Amino acid sequence: MKKKSIKELGEFGLINHLTSDIRCHKASTVYGIGDDCAIFNHKNRDSLVTSDMLMEGIHFDLVYTPLKHLGYKAVVVNISDIYAMNGTPEQIVVSIALSSKFSLKAAEELYKGIKEACRIYDVDFVGGDTTSSMTGLAISVTALGSVEKGRAVRRNTADDKELICVSGDLGASYLGLQLLKREKKIFMKDPKIQPELDKYPYLIERQLKPEARKDIIQQLQEKDILPTSMIDLSDGLSSDLLHIATQSNLGCKLFEDKLPIAMETQQAAEEFRLDPGIPALNGGEDYELLFTIAQKDHEKIQQIAGISIIGHMSPEKEKYVLVARNGKEIPLEAQGWNALNRSGESR
Ligand code: ADP
Ligand code: MG
Repeated sequence: MKKKSIKELGEFGLINHLTSDIRCHKASTVYGIGDDCAIFNHKNRDSLVTSDMLMEGIHFDLVYTPLKHLGYKAVVVNISDIYAMNGTPEQIVVSIALSSKFSLKAAEELYKGIKEACRIYDVDFVGGDTTSSMTGLAISVTALGSVEKGRAVRRNTADDKELICVSGDLGASYLGLQLLKREKKIFMKDPKIQPELDKYPYLIERQLKPEARKDIIQQLQEKDILPTSMIDLSDGLSSDLLHIATQSNLGCKLFEDKLPIAMETQQAAEEFRLDPGIPALNGGEDYELLFTIAQKDHEKIQQIAGISIIGHMSPEKEKYVLVARNGKEIPLEAQGWNALNRSGESR
């Protein structure tokens, strides 16, 4: 039997089609999809909530973004915000607006990615909203989570002389995006040319299918290290570190030679004639954790693989400094994606 179209299914038919196989597993989920509200209960822990909205043409380009990856990423970027508070993600709510160009197959693909992320990160999918759109796809995810009372880690609580740490490596996602855009341009000129992306699988994966650093939060807990402040890297290291510094009324000093940069990132930066420090400092969407720790935790942090100490906090009047590879001190600026000429473009 031929599958129905979204139009034939209608709003409720579509919701039912996409969600009928969803089951809840978390103790904190009292009731999921099916009523006016979902019900949850985080018991005697503090509750966390965060939301991110992705718009076609602004945040993603369906020419090179598979819908399954998009659904996965939309969930991951929210879950990353829960980890950045030192929390545990537990539920998500997903609202979508679909234009008429969307097939049922496309909606199914999007939901495959969403459900996959729920499985990997062990969160319940408890509701959402479905509507139509005149222009393109919009997807908004809200994540709920919880944290033991008194253990939420904020951005505004760093102290002088504390060590600045970052997980993983930096700048790969930004270069992945540049590669995808370059291939799109070539494809638009001549659709017969197949995209050449095999050279940089890591960069493409970092852009299209990022992961949230659940493992780092677990290891910090195992080592009994409570970061003094924390943020996840969505806009770029400089910009996100400046959130910690300004909100904590402090300065900071970063050392360029300490920035973790993957081999592929260095190679692609060379190909784009960029200093690899630039995507590392200003490229966005790394979804790594940036945090500060007390000096007493210095030795303990070195026992966790994949964490780099990249600088330290300083008194406010010393401002925001980058010590370049040649030893020169230059002001650290929050360039984010504007300076990289990305504003208004899809990314
Ligand atoms: P309401 O009229 O109260 O807004 P809806 O008809 O929009 O309810 O939704 C019915 C149920 O389906 C609710 O539990 C809602 O959370 C869920 N739901 C609606 N849209 C989605 C979606 N896109 N993904 C997951 N659940 C959804
Ligand atoms: Mg509704």
